[in-house]
Amino acid sequence: MEKRQQLYEGKAKKVFLTDDENMLIVSYKDDATAFNGLKKGQIAGKGVVNNRMSNMMMQLLEKEGVPTHFIKELSERETLVKKVKIVPLEVIIRNVSAGSFAKRYGVEEGIPFDEPTIEFSYKCDELGDPLINSYHALALKLATKEEIETIKKYAFKINDVLKAYFLKLGVRLIDFKLEFGRLSDGTIVLADEISPDTCRFWDVKTGEKLDKDRFRRDLGGVEEAYSEMFKRTMGEKA
Ligand code: ADP
Ligand code: UDP
Repeated sequence: MEKRQQLYEGKAKKVFLTDDENMLIVSYKDDATAFNGLKKGQIAGKGVVNNRMSNMMMQLLEKEGVPTHFIKELSERETLVKKVKIVPLEVIIRNVSAGSFAKRYGVEEGIPFDEPTIEFSYKCDELGDPLINSYHALALKLATKEEIETIKKYAFKINDVLKAYFLKLGVRLIDFKLEFGRLSDGTIVLADEISPDTCRFWDVKTGEKLDKDRFRRDLGGVEEAYSEMFKRTMGEKA
């Protein structure tokens, strides 16, 4: 597979065209941002952790019947994926109150929910990714009714699979963000990444945060948290 020109540089990844119009190469950077790009920094080794961990999650999900963009890991930081048209929705699943949920509704962090919740943000940096509901998504023609139903079904399935997977590793899956896309034939697949950048992970025993909140909140031990998640998921050191 030949790497061609850069299509896009985002906050955490670069995306390259390839000699196959249906495939892209994603390259994971160590750059970290928070608060819609207001806070910027670097997390040494993050690109490797996120690339390899995300690929592992995508392969697990494929086995469990969730279609994903994953094709092949090319190197520590680079992966070949199916090119999709991203559905401009950030799909957030929560099992426990944290982050913007706790803030918005004035509740403590750490309250477990009886049932997981789902919410959508309109993926639009200029607007600061505003929270929207599925009727708004339909009105804005971001997705069809059928696509939204499919996305919801996959998102809850992904939660079931990942929650159980991480629990075995001594990690509570608090919440996470997903992105979906359409293949050229319209099939909805899971895209983007699943990593400590996009999930909240709390240690079962100590409650220690093992995710990007350590960077967002200046808690220290950021690199250590990423390599701990890598060690637990991959069974080897980052
Ligand atoms: P951001 O754009 O939010 O700064 P990234 O730095 O992670 O985020 O950039 C990666 C970009 O690639 C995102 O816009 C994401 O939606 C997009 N993307 C992820 N997977 C695919 C895919 N399979 N096909 C096309 N675009 C993708
Ligand atoms: N999230 C993400 N990208 C975003 C917004 C949120 O990956 O642009 C993830 C975040 O890491 C967390 C979950 O989605 O695991 C819920 O985030 P929340 O709404 O609490 O937002 P935050 O306060 O973290 O920005």
